[in-house]
Amino acid sequence: MRHLLDLSLEEIETELATWGEPRYRAKQVPEWVFHHGATEFAAMTNLPPALRSRLAEAFTIAAPTVLAERVADDGATTKALLDLGGGDAVETVRMDYDPDEDGAPDRVTVCISTQVGCAMGCRFCATGLQGFTRNLTPAEIVAQVLHFSRSASGTNRVTNIVFMGMGEPLANYGGTVAAIRWLTRPEGLGLRQRGITVSTVGLVRGIDRLSQEGLQVGLTISLHAPDDELRRSLIPTSGGTTISQLVAAARRYIERCGRRVTFAYALLDHVNDEPEQARALARRIRGIQAHVNLIPYNPTAGPDLRRPSIGRVRAFQRELQAAGVNATVRIERGIEIAAACGQLRTDIQRANVSPIAVRP
Ligand code: SAH
Ligand code: SF4
Repeated sequence: MRHLLDLSLEEIETELATWGEPRYRAKQVPEWVFHHGATEFAAMTNLPPALRSRLAEAFTIAAPTVLAERVADDGATTKALLDLGGGDAVETVRMDYDPDEDGAPDRVTVCISTQVGCAMGCRFCATGLQGFTRNLTPAEIVAQVLHFSRSASGTNRVTNIVFMGMGEPLANYGGTVAAIRWLTRPEGLGLRQRGITVSTVGLVRGIDRLSQEGLQVGLTISLHAPDDELRRSLIPTSGGTTISQLVAAARRYIERCGRRVTFAYALLDHVNDEPEQARALARRIRGIQAHVNLIPYNPTAGPDLRRPSIGRVRAFQRELQAAGVNATVRIERGIEIAAACGQLRTDIQRANVSPIAVRP
């Protein structure tokens, strides 16, 4: 049966209009889902019983079954594996930041997936090694956030979303943008657009399209190398896309959306972490409103790649900063629960747990 959140609000309005329902009804239904956590139409007590029955015959608003949930960092990180049916599963992570004296977090970020697996095949990524199964629907993307927002009390409300779980968001463009609309509109979750960050492996057409949606979401471009040859060896599917094209796309995004762009750079020991490579990277991106997020490699993908020492990580960061580029190192989260891209699913398949780090 079709999930109601695979429709946009406008499509729900059109559908209910053909049923002869007044316009305001179309808003009441998603408000029950997003604001009150409803998972069945029967709970929508301000709708006439006949309408509730008719909705239940045409649509579902069921939540996915939770296959596994792991908690780490004294409860500040939770990772859930959700069942999508047909043997597919997707993972989602919640991270609480900056608790006050009472332990209430200032910021609650949920890291969500957009595909089952991924076709981009990045050599260092557990999801890339699983291959591509399928795109998630808008409802399946939104369900990952609802999983956490439904159980949230006033103090641990979801405030931020990062599209940094499994899959390439811009390769599931329609699903990603439809999910962003539900997550940000007032009849949906009502998050600030600026609280949302889309991370892409660097699909130039997708970046340009996103810059023209009239959304103010943050953008992260995964760069991982200062030169095209090395980048192609790490991201075999990057093909003809050059770093110059990506930097140009970043500039256009900044101009159109007024948002700073982040470049993600997974640091791989003695592969892309030499000081000279930091200087080369700085030359490529200097002068634009960008910032580099260094992610020390999580050893998930195979024996030929290693995580650099903290000394090498800091040296790389210092080189960038000395060259005038703002650079941060991603703080580790969820070590014991395998909270990295594609890892919970991989662990469950392999029945073991390996160390990880994740941070938007
Ligand atoms: N497909 C998108 C978003 C999902 S991956 C993208 O590639 O940007 C989110 C981030 O995690 C990306 O920056 C990716 O390069 C990084 N990543 C994936 N596997 C990693 C690993 N084993 N170690 C460190 N970073 C990794
Ligand atoms: Fe896909 Fe991103 Fe993993 Fe590359 S890093 S394989 S694009 S999920």
